[in-house]
Amino acid sequence: MKTKDVARCLVLAYPAQGHINPMIQFSKRLAHKGINITLVTALSFWNQTKTNNNNNDNNFLFSPNIHSESISDGYDDGGHLAASSIEIYKDTFWKVGRKTLSDLIRKLMVGNYNNNPVDCVIYDSFMPWALDVAKEFGILGAVFCTQPCAVNNIYFHVHKNLIELPLSESEYSLPGMVKLLAHELPSFLYEYGSYPGYFDIVTGQFSNVHKADWVLANTFYELEQEVIEWLSKIWPLNTIGPCIPSMYLDERLQEDKDYGISIHNQNIDACIKWLNDKPKSSVIYVSFGSMAGPTEKQTEELAYALKISNHYFMWVVRASEQNKLPKGTFMEDSALLEKGLIVTWCPQLQVLTHDAVGCFISHCGWNSTLEALCLGVPMIAMPVWSDQITNAKYVKDVWNMGLKVVVDEVEGVAKRETILDCIKEMMESEKGNEIRENAMKWKNLAKDSVDEGGSSDKNIEEFVSKLAQYAA
Ligand code: UDP
Repeated sequence: MKTKDVARCLVLAYPAQGHINPMIQFSKRLAHKGINITLVTALSFWNQTKTNNNNNDNNFLFSPNIHSESISDGYDDGGHLAASSIEIYKDTFWKVGRKTLSDLIRKLMVGNYNNNPVDCVIYDSFMPWALDVAKEFGILGAVFCTQPCAVNNIYFHVHKNLIELPLSESEYSLPGMVKLLAHELPSFLYEYGSYPGYFDIVTGQFSNVHKADWVLANTFYELEQEVIEWLSKIWPLNTIGPCIPSMYLDERLQEDKDYGISIHNQNIDACIKWLNDKPKSSVIYVSFGSMAGPTEKQTEELAYALKISNHYFMWVVRASEQNKLPKGTFMEDSALLEKGLIVTWCPQLQVLTHDAVGCFISHCGWNSTLEALCLGVPMIAMPVWSDQITNAKYVKDVWNMGLKVVVDEVEGVAKRETILDCIKEMMESEKGNEIRENAMKWKNLAKDSVDEGGSSDKNIEEFVSKLAQYAA
């Protein structure tokens, strides 16, 4: 018979920045509500963050209720970059991960946590095998979706063979969603065959979802109402987002410090100092997240558009992407140096909160989109691949919180004049002000959803209370 009264969750994050960030925030929320958390990801990822964050014991977690562990993805020295392809990485990780996760749970069941064994595995939907492992141990399993429900719905339809591939229709109508043109579906479908490894991961996410006790989604009811209602008919769905540090959603917590973790070096002070003397809403913040990168040609078009716009800009160009920046004297141009700051990584949430930032040119990764939305920052969407394509459609046409740069069909890039038009429209026109006001509306709705009694807060409370009952 169990004697404990505190539930323990093992939270398994996929080893990528955009996946671990929301799971850390969700873990913190659960820990705050009294749940013990064992936060797990691949050893390769922890190793990279330790090197870059001067942090040997992961004490960034700032909570006595959270401790970290690792499993092997089969590539302890380098993660997916050490594998010759994503397909090979996936096959190895899925095999090795299953075993090392089982070993870890066994260790936790008999080791130091004897009086507080694992009750529930909360796992990233990219790794459905973790649910099978949880069930082998007879414990609860909750799938955590790091992408919006609209995108989950699309991939679920592909998994069920309800969308024929390669795509043959020009337009798609899925339940609970606006009509999408074929090229507004995630790139793995529209450009079928382009990334087979990722295609298998995203379309396999919900292969065993019928066995899950919960489906937790990093979104909120008010944002995706119709598709959430549709998916709730077939899944035990709970929206629990936006999972961003609570200090950005609750002014009373502004003194808290939470920069999360990063596999990149960042100079927090330099970025904020640079923003501090810029006028209100005068800076364009540009970032393509942690994985995607525009092509060299696209980078050049963007660089010129930023320069010609004559607005201030802060542009994150990761170290691995710097070679795409225009060559020659372009980067030494004094006008450019005066107006722009190019960094390899920045504290994005702090930047987006800064008064000086007027808009966000973004690849529309789901975290970046949610962060902009929660902080009321209008976006100029420049999606690169994956779900970013669909997120960009929603940003512009459904949530009306941004513009979208149109790609020239002949040249295959968004040209500098097109980007410049979007910048002017956002920074200098009445339409830009309307979008800005609308972004503020979303900011308030996002905050309400996680405030006490809000839609996501209620779902988290319910989840926590069911876990506590189970553990008692
Ligand atoms: N990010 C950051 N600093 C940067 C660029 C990105 O902290 O300079 C964070 C950003 O706040 C977000 C994550 O990295 O939480 C990127 O996730 P997203 O889903 O937007 O894109 P992905 O990297 O998965 O493509």
